[in-house]
Amino acid sequence: MKRSRVIYCDFDGTITVNDNIVAIMKHFQPEGWDELVEQVISKTISIREGVGRMFALLPTSRKQEVIDYSINNVKIRDGFSELLEYCKQQNITFLVTSGGIDFFVYPVLSAFPIPTENIYCNGSDFSGSHIEIVWPHACDDQCHNQCGMCKTTIIRGYPSDRYERILIGDSVTDFEGAKLADTVFARSHLIDLCKDLGLNYYPFDNFHEVIERLEEMNEHE
Ligand SMILES: [Mg+2]
Ligand SMILES: [Zn+2]
Repeated sequence: MKRSRVIYCDFDGTITVNDNIVAIMKHFQPEGWDELVEQVISKTISIREGVGRMFALLPTSRKQEVIDYSINNVKIRDGFSELLEYCKQQNITFLVTSGGIDFFVYPVLSAFPIPTENIYCNGSDFSGSHIEIVWPHACDDQCHNQCGMCKTTIIRGYPSDRYERILIGDSVTDFEGAKLADTVFARSHLIDLCKDLGLNYYPFDNFHEVIERLEEMNEHE
C-alpha cells in the first residue's frame, strides 16, 4: 500500500525568510539575549530553556510593540501559497511545526488556508511582569531533548509504515525531527546536520523548488 505523505514545515527561517525570535531580540535588545542564542546553538542549554529565558527578558509593558514588530517584519518565502495549493491537490497533509510563539505564528499564517489544528507552536502568557512562554506541545516520554515545541512527538504520531514523512526546515529546532523523516528539505544549519548524519536531504531556496522535487519523487515511485 502506498503511504500517504505528510509534511512537517518549520515556520521561522523556513516559511518566513528571517527567524522571528532572533529578529525580536535584535530589535528590542534585552540584556543577555545574545548569549542565550549562542548557548542554544551550541547546545549548552536546551531550546526550551533558551527560548523561555529570552522572552522572560522582555517586560509585558511592551506587549503591543513586541507583537506588532514580530508580525509586521515578516517576509514569506516565495512559493509558499503554491506549496499549500500543491499539497491540497495531492492530498498531502501539511502541518506547520514551529518552535515560534503563538502571538506571531497564528496572525502571520491567518493569511493562508491552513486549518488551525494543523499549526503547532508554543504559547505565551502576558499576565505577569515579563513574557512567559508556555509549552502546549512539550516532549513526550520518548524525547529527552527539552524541545519546547517537540517536533519528534508530532512526527511519531504519523507511523512510518503508513506515512511518508517529509520535514522542511532550517535550524536547531529541526535537528531531532530530521532524523525521523524519510526526506528532508533543508536550509542553513540543517544542511550541515543532514550532511554530517548522511540524511536524505535536498537544499532549497524557495518553495517552488520543493514542489518540483516532490513532483520528481512522484515520478520515481
Ligand atoms: Mg527555523
Ligand atoms: Zn522533544
